[in-house]
Order: sequence, then C-alpha cells, then structure tokens
Amino acid sequence: MAQQESVDSIAKIQHLRLQRMSWGLGAQFSTWLVTAGLFLFGMVPGLPTAIYFCLMLVINLGFALLIKTNINLRFKDPSMTAVQIVAPIWPAVYLMFFVVDPQARTVFLMSAISGLMFGSFVLTRRGMLAVGAFILTSYLVLLTALHLFAPDRMNWRVELIIVFTYASVLLTVAYLGSYIASIRNKLREKNTQLAELAARDPLTQLPNRRSLMDQLSQEVARVERRSAEELGLCVSMLDVDHFKRVNDTWGHDTGDAILCRISEELRKIMRQGDFLGRFGGEEFIVILPESTLGAAQRTAERIQECVANLHFPELPDGERITVSQGVTIYRPGERIEATLKRADEALYVAKENGRNRIVVSQ
Ligand code: GH3
Ligand code: MG
Ligand code: MG
Repeated sequence: MAQQESVDSIAKIQHLRLQRMSWGLGAQFSTWLVTAGLFLFGMVPGLPTAIYFCLMLVINLGFALLIKTNINLRFKDPSMTAVQIVAPIWPAVYLMFFVVDPQARTVFLMSAISGLMFGSFVLTRRGMLAVGAFILTSYLVLLTALHLFAPDRMNWRVELIIVFTYASVLLTVAYLGSYIASIRNKLREKNTQLAELAARDPLTQLPNRRSLMDQLSQEVARVERRSAEELGLCVSMLDVDHFKRVNDTWGHDTGDAILCRISEELRKIMRQGDFLGRFGGEEFIVILPESTLGAAQRTAERIQECVANLHFPELPDGERITVSQGVTIYRPGERIEATLKRADEALYVAKENGRNRIVVSQ
C-alpha cells in the first residue's frame, strides 16, 4: 500500500520535473530564435550554427530521456537543476566564439541569466553563486580564446565593461534567486507543520475528525479499486460510557486525562495499517482496512478489554472506565457517511443494551 503511494508521488514529482524542463525549453526558445536571426543576418557562419542546434538537441533530449527512464532518480540531485542550467552554456560559448559582432554576444549572456533564475527552485545560495561563477568563468574562457585565436573579433574596452556589468548582475541574480529559494523552503516547512497541526487533535494528539475523513475516503478509493476481493474496509465507532458523569464527578481535567490515557493505550495496541482517530468529544473511530467483519470484531474486543482493564490514577480505586462500540463494514458503492451512520446506529444499540459492549452491524 505505502509502496503504491510512494510510486504515485514519485510519478508526480517526475512529471513536475518534465514540466519544469519544458519551461526551461521555453526560456531557451528565445535564444534559438536569436541564433537563427544572427545566422540569417550573416553575423555567424552556418556550420557552427548547425552544430550549436545539434548540441542543444542532444542535451535537451538527454535530460528528457533521463527523467523519462527514471535514471535521474539515482542521482544525488534528481532534479538535475544545476546541470540543466550549466549544460547549455558550453554550446553557447562555442557559438559565441564565431559571432562577428562583440555586441551580439551579449544576447547569450542574457539567456544564461534567465537559466540561472531556474536555480531558485532548488539551489542554495552557495549553489547559485557557484553556477553564476561558472557562467562568468565560461565567458572569460571565451574571451581568452578570442584573444588568442581571433583578436580581430574582440574589443577589450567593450569586453571589460561587459564582464564587469555581467559579474554584478550575476551576483544580484544569484542572491535574489537564493533568497527566493530560502523563502520557498521556509514556506514548504511551514506548510508541512500546518498540515500536521490541522490533522491532529490537540488534546489527545490523535488524528482528528478531518484526518479520519481523509483517511476513510482514501481507504474507500482503495477498496473500490479491488472490490473483487473478500477483504473489506471495516470501521468501529467507539464512545466512552457515562463520560458526562466522569466530568461531573471528578472534574473536567480528570475527563481530559482519561481521554488522553485511553488514546495512548489504544494507539499502543493498534496493528500496523489500522488507523485510530478522535472523531470528536469522547468518540473515537478505528479504521480497519483489508479486514473481515470477524477480524474487526476481534479487534474491537481487544480494545474493549484494554480500556476496561485500565487503572486510572486520577480515579478512586476500583473505578473503571468502559467503552461501547458499533462495528460495520463498508458496502462497495455507498457513501462513507452511510457506513459511519450504520456504525453509529450499532453503537446506539450497544448503549441501549447496557453499554460496555460491541454491536456488529451486518
Ligand atoms: P453515554 O454512555 O450514553 O455515551 O453517556 P455520556 O455521558 O458519555 O454521553 P454524553 O454524550 O451525554 O456526554 C458526553 C460528554 O463528554 C459530555 C462532554 O462534556 C464530554 N466531553 C466531550 N469532549 C470532552 C473533552 O474534550 N474533555 C472532557 N473532559 N469532556 C468532554
Ligand atoms: Mg458521545
Ligand atoms: Mg459517551
């Protein structure tokens, strides 16, 4: 079950990675248009242009293939963000070497900046600075190559100003980008904390009603997927007996302590895969996926016995707390509310019949 879920979420993340890659392609597209324009205007020869396009094709296909085949999952950073930003730089540097007009080269520098912005998805400040430094170094390598092999295509004064400006822009982008990344991370952490808070009952720390309903609809979806099997989704609704009297006699604090203790003890005896939550007040729900009514009844009996045998230090010696339970099984096709209603009705019968008992609804 858990495995299926993680497979689902991996597929989702992989899909997101492909999507992010296609945004990257969008950003690259303008560079390709410019390259085509440079060629059409005779500012760069045909062969290097063709080689540039081939390299870009290979690189992008390569990344898409790595994600499609899940090979990227084996990497330290499966999103391959840094590599994806850095990889298009070399073909660009190669092509820039052939650009006749020094001014036209700055176009490629700009596109590298938009690539760097993608770093704000995952990179840390150091990562962003490192990628920025890499881009700048690549440009310096290009200038060295031009100086050595094609000094006529170079104007040192212009280049000096370009390099200086470019360095400061990269620094700014790297800082802003990593700032965005840190906000994203904080937001994600806060969201996780909030989701955790919203799903928990503050008194007993058990999953609350909202969380129970979420869990139930997940289980329903699972049962519906494999309705051919005999195993079903069972639910036990549990209510503490005469709890109002407990509060009235020994105080609300004692009532709270008892609810906490019951939650704690029941959590201990829950089997893996079963799900216990506080439905509200002194009512709890136990979700038993892949179970039969018989097995669910036995679990309910274990619960029954567990609570009845508890000794509460808050209560006078010999005072016991009991619970009543209504157990039922989900009928394929019905609304989960109908299942809960049946469990509630069974619970009502248990109360009517004298409490401290289990009623199973067929
Ligand atoms: P029955 O056996 O029929 O279930 O009787 P009961 O007294 O348990 O049922 P009733 O629904 O009349 O009362 C439930 C009581 O539970 C009333 C309410 O004050 C108490 N209660 C609900 N939530 C809490 C809580 O968080 N803490 C405490 N201490 N009491 C609570
Ligand atoms: Mg009640
Ligand atoms: Mg009660």
